[in-house]
Amino acid sequence: MTEVRVRIAPSPTGNLHVGTARTALFNYLYAKKHDGKFILRIEDTDLERSEAKYIQDIYDGLQLLGLHWDEGPDKEGPYGPYIQSQRLDLYREYAQKLVASGHAYYCYCTVEELDAEKQKSMEEKRPYIYSRRCCDEDEATRLKQDESRKPTLRFKIPSEPESILLEDLVRGEVTFESALIGDFVIMKSNGTPSYNFAVVVDDLTMKITHIIRGEDHIPNTPKQMLLYQALGAQMPAFAHVGMILAPDRSKLSKRHGATAVAEFIRQGYLPEAFGNFLTLLGWSPPDGQEVGTLAHFASEFTLSRIAPNPAIFDQDKLNWLNGITIRAMELPTLLEKARPFLSGYDLSQYDDTRLQMILEAVREPITILSELPDAVSYFFGDNVAYTDEIRNDVLQTEDSLTVLERFKSDFLANAAFSSPEELAAEVKAFANNLKPLKMKSIMWAIRAAVTGRVHGADLSKTLFILGKDRVNHRVEDALQQIATRSA
Ligand code: GLU
Repeated sequence: MTEVRVRIAPSPTGNLHVGTARTALFNYLYAKKHDGKFILRIEDTDLERSEAKYIQDIYDGLQLLGLHWDEGPDKEGPYGPYIQSQRLDLYREYAQKLVASGHAYYCYCTVEELDAEKQKSMEEKRPYIYSRRCCDEDEATRLKQDESRKPTLRFKIPSEPESILLEDLVRGEVTFESALIGDFVIMKSNGTPSYNFAVVVDDLTMKITHIIRGEDHIPNTPKQMLLYQALGAQMPAFAHVGMILAPDRSKLSKRHGATAVAEFIRQGYLPEAFGNFLTLLGWSPPDGQEVGTLAHFASEFTLSRIAPNPAIFDQDKLNWLNGITIRAMELPTLLEKARPFLSGYDLSQYDDTRLQMILEAVREPITILSELPDAVSYFFGDNVAYTDEIRNDVLQTEDSLTVLERFKSDFLANAAFSSPEELAAEVKAFANNLKPLKMKSIMWAIRAAVTGRVHGADLSKTLFILGKDRVNHRVEDALQQIATRSA
């Protein structure tokens, strides 16, 4: 059996887009499932729009998502180089083969002449197809005399119209009519290949077995199939995946927020969660298990479970998966991921164990890391700012005053603060001593005074992390504020 070889072939004309990342992911999962190779090829033949910084962003984004390639520009393989601008000789060689076999011819028409042809077909309301003027050897020889005409090389569509049958692994049979495809340019006048030509030369010389890509490439496929035929090469299998659409079913664009992978990560999505989310955009796991690792999904992956219809980018689902991932993550890892989001705080006042305790205490309701600065705010600073609700309501009740005074005199004077568990037992004992006051209102008052909030992390853990001095300071501050107001 031939080894499965799949590829992702991004053009570095922008940052790694969600759609490209999803296509890369499907290719990666397919390769892993079949013990095959996942190849990264940079399609930079559009030199004007390609930029090195985008190549870097593509590397970084794929790596963040764990989509490590087996062969690529920076990873040697038997069919390199893996960057199109370094393969120009190869395209020229294959172009010559097509010229020699009569499948390609030089076209000397100028841009203005071609524009005029296009204009005419528009006026006549018919789809534009090149007139084949230069397919006529005499005409081409005549035009060639004018040295200012720089030729392109065109692929010659078979003269006998034929139906081209694509057996797409996602969409089933799709038929195209060759009569509707004009003789398309394979080499531009500047000596670089067109996309359709370069991609075929690359895929066949890199021995790609399956082309898994977005459905926006379907119109290109018959052209590429004709090129394989003309080169006498074995055709790879094709699988065209449905697009990713915004909730309003329009094309996903900046208007809907972020579209670049790195941007989502910067916003506070975890690469693990984001990868999980992308997996479900157009593919459904056979066991219905939506939360999982790349390795798990790879073991389950089949092309037949890819949806041909578009997938909707559902931000709520992304948030849900991100929350699950945050809650399941090992604390030391979570701490490293959280650090950039907590740069506004002096983290050096706590050791890593305490910082991890803080994260553990607050992570339950968090869906995105950018919520962390607010969630952890009461663990920093000497005092906390009280909301109006707390100042005018919680701290004004008789009970609260009693609770806080006793908390200071009985509890803080004696509690050992030796471990969160012991502290929890001590808090409980303290509350029992305050009967008939209810546990709930006791906790309510202490929490409000110490954290400035009415909800939040487990109270004993919070007290433990803050430490006795800071708790004492805040309780005194609260008592002071109560006293000032009632005076
Ligand atoms: N370079 C193409 C793109 O970025 C991909 C080509 C392909 O997958 O065939 O859309």
